[in-house]
Amino acid sequence: MVEDGLNPALEESRRGAHLWLFAEKPLPAGELRRYVLAVAARLNIVVKGNGQAEGIEIIPGQDRVKPGMYGNAIRAPLGIHRTSGQRYFFCGASRNSELQIEFLKNIPKITREQLDQLIGDLPPEPPHNQRMDSLPVAPFRPNGHPFKILEHVVVNRLSGQNFWARCPSCASQGKDNSCDNLAISVEDPRKYRCWAGCTRQMIRAAVGFPIPATLSTLGGNDYARTRAAVHTTQSPSSRGKEA
Ligand SMILES: [Zn+2]
Repeated sequence: MVEDGLNPALEESRRGAHLWLFAEKPLPAGELRRYVLAVAARLNIVVKGNGQAEGIEIIPGQDRVKPGMYGNAIRAPLGIHRTSGQRYFFCGASRNSELQIEFLKNIPKITREQLDQLIGDLPPEPPHNQRMDSLPVAPFRPNGHPFKILEHVVVNRLSGQNFWARCPSCASQGKDNSCDNLAISVEDPRKYRCWAGCTRQMIRAAVGFPIPATLSTLGGNDYARTRAAVHTTQSPSSRGKEA
């Protein structure tokens, strides 16, 4: 990016680092992403999503958001991380909020003209089959309405037939930092499961809406059946025995 005449800012983070590209004026997310994807391809850096479970993340992941919907949630520069309770600083200035803000104010920002030049020769971005324009926002419902898991989690991404989110039960144990243990069926969000094995009861308890005792047994049986089916089709040991 520096070779391209840009001034990305490197920020420490909880699990690595963020590379920020600040723009002089708001620029279309899709066009900036095209440029970043091209840089990643040039450097053989894998980008998460579209079949890749690991890799760097490019945010925002949406080209546009519909009214009433949100794009990716991000922590603004120098904001306090809500999980770690820490502030993370940018490389290039002393670890002092005022000096950091001064540093951010002074770094040259990418302009419309620069972006036009950078993406001018790039091929169009391949069509995404699984990218969402926006993520669902759970409407507020007072207690007493049917339980809806989407009202209690932040959807991280859409992949396959599912929304993926941090499992509340895993989160309560400090786990699932990649925020993708909980699969929620897009077609029927009443169906959800944690791939780390948390039961519905555990998930409901973790969000403060425990399953009433009378329904608890039923939920448990449904869950056990789903897991049994998955184990039958995915068991790695069965292949080993045939060989
Ligand atoms: Zn879990």
